[in-house]
Amino acid sequence: MSTHSLLLLPGDGIGVETMAEVERIIAFLNARSNSAKFETQSDLVGGAAFDKHGVSITEDAMAKATAADAIIFGSVGGPKWDSVPYEHRPEAGLLRLRKDLDLFANLRPAICYPALADASSLKRDLVEGLDILILRELTGGTYFGEPKEIVTLENGEKRAVDTTLYTTREVDRIARMGFDLARKRRNKVHMAAKWNVMRSGVLWREVTAAVHKSYAADVEYHEILADNCAMQLIRNPKQFDVVVTDNLFGDILSDEAAMMTGSLGMLPSASLGAADPKTGKRRALYEPVHGSAPDIAGQGLANPIATIASFGMALRYSFDMGKEADLVDGAIAKVLEKGLRTGDIMQPGMTKVGTSEMGSAILKEMEAMAA
Ligand code: NAD
Repeated sequence: MSTHSLLLLPGDGIGVETMAEVERIIAFLNARSNSAKFETQSDLVGGAAFDKHGVSITEDAMAKATAADAIIFGSVGGPKWDSVPYEHRPEAGLLRLRKDLDLFANLRPAICYPALADASSLKRDLVEGLDILILRELTGGTYFGEPKEIVTLENGEKRAVDTTLYTTREVDRIARMGFDLARKRRNKVHMAAKWNVMRSGVLWREVTAAVHKSYAADVEYHEILADNCAMQLIRNPKQFDVVVTDNLFGDILSDEAAMMTGSLGMLPSASLGAADPKTGKRRALYEPVHGSAPDIAGQGLANPIATIASFGMALRYSFDMGKEADLVDGAIAKVLEKGLRTGDIMQPGMTKVGTSEMGSAILKEMEAMAA
């Protein structure tokens, strides 16, 4: 029996409500599995932590996060904390987790459930069944490179500089992760960069090709210019499996890909760190893309699917529990197929449900599929 430790950080607003549904799924998996068990701990983060401790995350919670096999994060923030000191704002807790745990890779899947294909801005046949993953480098590149400044020139004009800076090590580790992830999916990687006009793009191309040759020759590999990738995502998104790219292009391409699939309430994500050389385990934080939705918080209206699907990603990427992850994803697809909808994805003729009804329906499908 293997034991996996999870730290649950529900946070603020709807994070608390959607995390409650994840806890029910964890309890279900614990009850039926005799090969793996989850041990969970919970703590405060964001505004909730500030209210109790005066900081957005405590040292004790950070220690738990460092020790856990994976963190499941809800959402933080809200108008209540708009005027707290900048260093204690709710988001600071999340940023500290990402930084201190060195979570350099951001995984943003874009999955289009057939039942929601008509909600996409693209035609149904282009997006129905879509399942792609944008892998964005998260801690380097244009957003962090120095110099980064605006200077006033002698003639009074201003000059702004951002620097796109990458080292071999930074590209190598994200490329490796891209190939590792592809092996758990459909075994195909596209590397998107601008090697035609950027020196950093030349390095991305060189290093990723070398990693492919020495480490992942079994994976299908393509190089694509980032602007063409943006176009191809709209033209024929299903040609992709994993797209690995830098921080700036990844920011844009992941939003483009995700929005093909509908509501914020449906979008999971993961941020991963380096693999431990001894155990092979990676630091990992899983979270929905959405925020704390103060407009609907506390009313039982939130869509829990993004948070549940984030836990599904933890099963797949932290715990190698592909079968259980398929069970979660399959149950979500089934519930949508049966016409159940929270307010954010409501369509004419469908049945409107709240957070816990949606959670119960997913759990019921999991039970039926696992029987
Ligand atoms: P938001 O994602 O919280 O909400 C945007 C809109 O989408 C709202 O109308 C909301 O009701 C709706 N929505 C979002 N998730 C939903 C769900 N699961 N089910 C149903 N409807 C959903 O973004 P916002 O309103 O810009 O931000 C609100 C707060 O959340 C702010 O304090 C912001 O800083 C914070 N925020 C936190 C995170 C995070 O924790 N990672 C991310 C984004 C925003």
